[in-house]
Amino acid sequence: MPNLNPDQGDPDSVNVRSKDYLIARSVRPCTHCGVGTPLVALVLPPSHEILSLAEDDGSGPLADSWDETHGSAFLFHIGYLPDRVQQRVQASSKTYRLAVSPAAQGSRWANHCEHCGSLQEDHDLFCEPEGAFLPVDAASASAIELTRIDEPFAAAAAGYAREPEYLEHMIRS
Ligand SMILES: [Zn+2]
Repeated sequence: MPNLNPDQGDPDSVNVRSKDYLIARSVRPCTHCGVGTPLVALVLPPSHEILSLAEDDGSGPLADSWDETHGSAFLFHIGYLPDRVQQRVQASSKTYRLAVSPAAQGSRWANHCEHCGSLQEDHDLFCEPEGAFLPVDAASASAIELTRIDEPFAAAAAGYAREPEYLEHMIRS
């Protein structure tokens, strides 16, 4: 499993990177007011890289290393995004922005309802069955629209959902 540190929000904390990426879009009822609101998510195609933190085995400090992966992944609980990626995502959704997260003791990039402004928790979108980005069948997966961005990507992300079911063929194509 990737070693993901959730408590960093600066460029030095980048723990995933890729030569390209995808922006996923969907629409779901707001968890607060119930009105449908657009949601976005970041997706990494196969061959992205994960930072593997060096472990001190007593023989002195070792260098961190980047490990190439062979599957796709959704990212969430994101603490840091480079400016270029922020601009790309916010062009898709103006309500995706940094939010203070008491639970995470820091700031996170998160979706907000375009009607009432409520924070849409990543946990609800990515971890709950039938969440906007955790489809339970091909029909719910088809509600997710993917746009490939042919530009470099980096982020500090504490949430990492490997090989999203029903979406693999869309991400690879
Ligand atoms: Zn709302």
